[in-house]
Amino acid sequence: MLTGEIDLHLHSTASDGTETPRSLVRMAKQMGLAAISITDHDTTEAVSEAQREGRRSSVEVIPGIEIGSHFEGNSVHILGYFVDVESPVLREFVQQKREARKRRAIEIVRRLRSAGLPIDEEAVFEAAGSGVVGRVQIARVLVANGVVGSVSEAFASLLRRGSPYYVALTKPSPQEAVSLVKRAGGIASLAHPVFLEERIVERLVPMLSKAGLAGIEVLCGFDPAAGLTAEDHLRRCAEMMGFATDYGLVPTGGSDYHGLSVKATGMGSAHVPVQFLEDLKAAYRNRDPAQSPSGGAPRS
Ligand SMILES: [Zn+2]
Ligand SMILES: [Zn+2]
Repeated sequence: MLTGEIDLHLHSTASDGTETPRSLVRMAKQMGLAAISITDHDTTEAVSEAQREGRRSSVEVIPGIEIGSHFEGNSVHILGYFVDVESPVLREFVQQKREARKRRAIEIVRRLRSAGLPIDEEAVFEAAGSGVVGRVQIARVLVANGVVGSVSEAFASLLRRGSPYYVALTKPSPQEAVSLVKRAGGIASLAHPVFLEERIVERLVPMLSKAGLAGIEVLCGFDPAAGLTAEDHLRRCAEMMGFATDYGLVPTGGSDYHGLSVKATGMGSAHVPVQFLEDLKAAYRNRDPAQSPSGGAPRS
């Protein structure tokens, strides 16, 4: 039986985190976390390496992903737990996203270059390594080339939404993201709702519950840059717990750790009790069998 705390929302170098999947597992081990999930943006590439290290280190690693979606001008993230990383529907999604992100990075770099800024595609792809390429890697190259002082400065200026260098990614609706997680055999949870406007959460939760949302991230790492005081953060977390109760959703939680140079929330900072994982596992066992990759197929 597991005891202690867990962290079900981490990012690795497979998306925009600073630590490799293996290093995240080792850090979790050192911190005494019983279980983690690496929920990289639009990719499950970290899962197998993390699970291998998890078996060595006795840290349970739950397969995860975080899918970006759009709802009326708001960026809404959907976490997928226990997804089957080999399912064709997920593999196709990950592949398409990877290509779209690549095209977008090339376009952002082209725009920066035509404004005379020193940056080239090769350096950006090198910064991404085998992981998906995003604005973070462009920001890192801009820092290395002395254009801006830090990654956060790049995000607040050149790479911000609305800047002439900003290129939007086409994103699914939140319902489509929930449906994708379900079709990949997983359990969908609404990520960090405390950072969404209250009126948006009030509309999203009933709508997504109908679409098959099974969880809501009630415990998130406190990020001073997100504009809430520590007190408001706790109050919002309690409100999200209320949504979980009212809609019969499993409470989930995680820090959204990216590396402290990217964001101030440390691994384990959401202090998620292990009971959350037990409840998530129960939801997974009791999920609609028709949603599994093979379960919905016609029988021959
Ligand atoms: Zn997110
Ligand atoms: Zn995240």
